[in-house]
Amino acid sequence: MTIPQSADVVVIGGGPAGSLASTVLALKGHDVVMLEKQRHPRPQVGESLIPDFWKYADLMEVTDKLLAEGFLSKAGAVIGWEGQVRAHSFGDFGYTKPAMHVERERFDQILFEHAAEKGVTTVEEATVTGVDFTAAEESGEGAVVAVKAEDGTPHSISCRYVLDASGQAAVLGRQLGLRHIDDAFRYLSIWGYWTGSRFLDLDGTAHSRDELGSTRPVTFVTSLNEAGDAGWSWHITLREETSIGLVLPIDLVRTAREPNESWESYYERRCREVPILQDLLADATLRPGSVSSIRDYSHQSSAVAGPGWFLAGDAAGFVDPIFSVGVVLAMYGAATAAWAIDRALTKPEQAERVRDMFTRQLNGRIEVARSLALPRYSGAGGEVTDLAKKTLELERSAVKDIMYAVSEFTTRSDNWVEIVGTEAPDLTDEQRRIIDDIVV
Ligand SMILES: Cc1cc2nc3c(=O)[nH]c(=O)nc-3n(C[C@H](O)[C@H](O)[C@H](O)COP(=O)(O)OP(=O)(O)OC[C@H]3O[C@@H](n4cnc5c(N)ncnc54)[C@H](O)[C@@H]3O)c2cc1C
Repeated sequence: MTIPQSADVVVIGGGPAGSLASTVLALKGHDVVMLEKQRHPRPQVGESLIPDFWKYADLMEVTDKLLAEGFLSKAGAVIGWEGQVRAHSFGDFGYTKPAMHVERERFDQILFEHAAEKGVTTVEEATVTGVDFTAAEESGEGAVVAVKAEDGTPHSISCRYVLDASGQAAVLGRQLGLRHIDDAFRYLSIWGYWTGSRFLDLDGTAHSRDELGSTRPVTFVTSLNEAGDAGWSWHITLREETSIGLVLPIDLVRTAREPNESWESYYERRCREVPILQDLLADATLRPGSVSSIRDYSHQSSAVAGPGWFLAGDAAGFVDPIFSVGVVLAMYGAATAAWAIDRALTKPEQAERVRDMFTRQLNGRIEVARSLALPRYSGAGGEVTDLAKKTLELERSAVKDIMYAVSEFTTRSDNWVEIVGTEAPDLTDEQRRIIDDIVV
């Protein structure tokens, strides 16, 4: 694919955020170039999707392709924390579409190829190395994007707007000095892929993989010690393999490995020590070479939009994967950015106002995600922030209820009621399923 010299919008990164924003902008008639550093299918962590992603799938008109792929739908989540095991199902909170377990390399590839079908110029193995905003200093829009092609040759693309959806690479966030690590959340995550692991259903009963056709799996999350302050693990059943990850406080990781122990051995040993997980893994094998890790992935941006640019997805900010909201938050930001860029392109006189609206909306959602994931959540001044409260006021009550339920499951946010700003909702026994005994 030759790299064009100009476009209305250049999107950096071809993950869910980039593909969604590009597609929506192309559907609105804009000339969009999406640049992806790697080639799809490319590995990506984050396989558990909450059902809200379907509305974004509808928005980019990719729902039929995702359904045809036959990803696994899941029954809900089973969470073991502080010695208690509880479960929830989205259906109990009024959701009609299923939550899913998806192989991200395939899911992201479907979205990326779909963007091309809808008119986006997609270029793979094209790395953005920097963006020049000199033009935007006067007119409020305009940028020149520097790109290194697959064969190493440099290119530049002139455009009116840049959307950075480059994930944890946060190309613009780093260039403009916006990205800062979330000090409340210094973790390392290490994960790998297993064959032959059994899985849990919504009642906490273990099943062998050959029952996958008749029994829906859950995402199984468990804290690594009673209080949850030693981290937690996930178990996500996929069509062929099982994704298992550990999330560990960085301070603890420094001393955790035995002398001369490799990260892969450490990871396998730890997984096989975790109660319940060790039983599910009794006959399972870790795929050699499948172990990856990331540290300090929780970060925020001091600005998410400016003259000529917007950020979306992990490039704008990310908190913690505990409640599987990453992809949906990325898609929310991308949809909102697409709306804002379309407005700014068609009504340039509104560009500044639109940027402010986008900033408020996205920061509000990120703040809610932080409030749900942080133990004893508080903003910079130590109090529950108005932004989180105000954003939640606009949410459907079913969404608030499920957030309240999961915050209770993990003690991750023991001041959630204060955040919601109302009395604790009256959850039914179904909504707050208590599991007396895991049957493995
Ligand atoms: C340990 C862990 C577990 C997680 N588990 C879950 C989960 O269960 N459920 C969930 O919903 N979320 C989960 N997440 C979060 C989820 O992975 C992300 O929120 C999601 O992938 C964000 O999508 P994105 O499009 O913003 O970024 P990405 O999916 O990361 O895509 C960004 C793309 O940009 C490309 N890129 C980078 N630099 C450049 C460049 N210079 N030029 C061009 N392209 C570039 C990359 O190659 C990549 O393809 C998890 C995250 C972590 C860290």
